[in-house]
Amino acid sequence: MAEIIVVGGGLAAAKAAEALRDLGHDGPITVLCGEAHPPYERPPLSKEYLQGKAERDSVFTFDAAWYADHDVTVRTGVRVTSLDREARTVGLDGGESLHYDELLLATGSRARPLPGADGVHYLRTIDDSDALRAAFAKGGRLGIVGGGWIGLEAAAAARGAGLEVTVIEPSEQRLIGALGPELGKVFADLHRSHGVDLRTGVGVRAVEPGGRGLVLEDGSTVETDAVLVGIGAIPNIEFAQEAGLDTAEGGLAVDAGLRTSDPHVFAVGDIAAAENPTVGRRIRVEHWANALNQPRVAAANMLGGSEVYDRLPYFFTDQYQLGMEYLGLSTGYDQVVIRGDVDALEFVAFWLREGRVLAGMNVNIWDVGDDVRDLITSRRSVDAARLGDTGVPLAEV
Ligand code: FAD
Repeated sequence: MAEIIVVGGGLAAAKAAEALRDLGHDGPITVLCGEAHPPYERPPLSKEYLQGKAERDSVFTFDAAWYADHDVTVRTGVRVTSLDREARTVGLDGGESLHYDELLLATGSRARPLPGADGVHYLRTIDDSDALRAAFAKGGRLGIVGGGWIGLEAAAAARGAGLEVTVIEPSEQRLIGALGPELGKVFADLHRSHGVDLRTGVGVRAVEPGGRGLVLEDGSTVETDAVLVGIGAIPNIEFAQEAGLDTAEGGLAVDAGLRTSDPHVFAVGDIAAAENPTVGRRIRVEHWANALNQPRVAAANMLGGSEVYDRLPYFFTDQYQLGMEYLGLSTGYDQVVIRGDVDALEFVAFWLREGRVLAGMNVNIWDVGDDVRDLITSRRSVDAARLGDTGVPLAEV
């Protein structure tokens, strides 16, 4: 019976264990979680959990009974520090060595640190979210370094908790970078209308010790009681890299079946830089949907299958009264088409290149996902005027 080890403590690790059992693997499965917790999901950590609207139990993918019922061994607080591909063993931080027949890496990412900033908050783990929530409870002024998804979701949560919030983002162009300036502006306006002091075009030169203030590059200062740094994530691939696995796009290079350059080692979730046949190239996506859906493909292939992961990137966010879903990849777009009412925050935005839809984002409009997907994957030329006309059904554009 093949022994399977899963390294990681996020959604991808839990879904991998589930998929392996669903697909009939009846040998040992061991999940090694670096954190002190069994696998859990991160999106609520900057949204309902941070806002105190979700129970702690709700963020964990499965409860202890599920792992027991499915005979999955979960070890928490153990970090894999080395990989011996020839011996097929992983080494743990305590010195122990564990054998595998097939290995799945789902080690995700960690928050990118801001050099020289002491006593600041980051938001990657449930412990981070607890600490930030405790800071919210004290009230006062929160400074946020970085106007990406994490920074803006936390800004919305902090405003909901009654804090004064200042967000510093060096580039207006890069605010919510993936969306481009046209749609980044929608988010900027949204936050400003909710009282966030959003400053773009200026970076942070220094953070006062304990997060007691920001010094900006133009010499001005912002008084704060706490600071959250949200400047991106770093994939956790060091031990795999040292073991000689191929890398790409900052992560581990995997084929369309999510197999690394070692046939007995697979990678999923944030770290997987995967060949994607639908997109037509290798992509690494740091989004929840990948962690949810890739493990089933990897599990099937670990058990001898030949499945391919070909889903489009998908992302969602909730901020104040705005809920949105984003599908596709807008890289290289030359046109943005809006369908609906931006001021009322009810619209679908499309990014096009040479008349073909690359990506779509529905804001407070639901059940259009299939049509948006079809517009992207069919690669058909569309008439921009009809695409933007709410009177023309999307399926007929
Ligand atoms: P992770 O969730 O990062 O889990 C990896 C786990 O592996 C961690 O627990 C880590 O400690 C552990 N680990 C790392 N190295 C080792 C090691 N050597 N040994 C043992 N264990 C190790 N995406 C969306 O699409 N929509 C959202 O709204 C959204 N909101 C988010 C909000 C927050 C606050 C964060 C942090 C992320 C959010 N994301 C969102 C992104 C999404 O959560 C990630 O893409 C997803 O968590 C990736 O899952 P993963 O299982 O690959 O890795």
